[in-house]
Amino acid sequence: MTDDEKPPVPNKSLTENLVSDAANNRRKMVRPPSGGTTAGRGMGTQIKTADKKSMSSIQWIKRQLADPWSEKARAEGYRSRAAFKFAEIDDRFRLVKRGSKVIDLGAAPGGWVQVCVNRGASAVVGVDLLPIEPIPGSVLIQADFTDPGVDQQLLDELGGAPDLVLSDMAHNTVGHRQTDHLKIIALIEIASDFAIRTLKPGGHFVTKNFQGGDAGRVLAELREAFEEVKYVKPAASRKGSSEVYLVALNRK
Ligand code: SAM
Repeated sequence: MTDDEKPPVPNKSLTENLVSDAANNRRKMVRPPSGGTTAGRGMGTQIKTADKKSMSSIQWIKRQLADPWSEKARAEGYRSRAAFKFAEIDDRFRLVKRGSKVIDLGAAPGGWVQVCVNRGASAVVGVDLLPIEPIPGSVLIQADFTDPGVDQQLLDELGGAPDLVLSDMAHNTVGHRQTDHLKIIALIEIASDFAIRTLKPGGHFVTKNFQGGDAGRVLAELREAFEEVKYVKPAASRKGSSEVYLVALNRK
């Protein structure tokens, strides 16, 4: 998962504690072994510095505090800033209708599910690798969507074909460009295949995509199966990120 995709920090005092905990941990890590110098020179020991993970956590928390979308999510009771990405897409294309049946792939912590329920969907089934706190009006399943049988489980829970399939699935990046790229494309392909197989005629599909990603085959299949396919970069998607969304309208 990229920095852009982490849930908002729940409240400032907690955040400030986290920042200071992380800073304290860092201080603990650079304390020299007894008898040594700050750098541990002369002791024959390895120099320890704050690990990359705690530093990137501090930076992420600081960014969240400065991020108006995360602030807005906290103020409006949304679990993620991602909620505003889908809200904007839905404002533009009117995808969620009163009584819509929706499947949300990669739903944690639940921002998109909240938007669907708030906008009148009658059934929303979400799935994620991570557990999701209950959201009234939805069924939330913890599973790997790519595992055999999970797709059918979602359809069974929904009680029929969906009007709308959403996928904001994103894997934890491993830092190896080609591997990450292949994983991104695999998730987009699996989600697209599911949407094409299961949507009602006239149904819609939204999936996360990345600029420069080689989603050519998926794009061709979506153009074949839907009347229109659009690229959208919502305002809540960070300017510097390559994240974009594909919106496929009206399953033929
Ligand atoms: N749309 C969500 C919201 O509004 O709160 C945010 C989704 S977050 C960007 C991406 C999610 O995709 C992560 O929670 C991750 O666990 C999930 N994910 C990645 N691969 C998955 C898989 N194979 N099956 C289910 N969920 C997956």
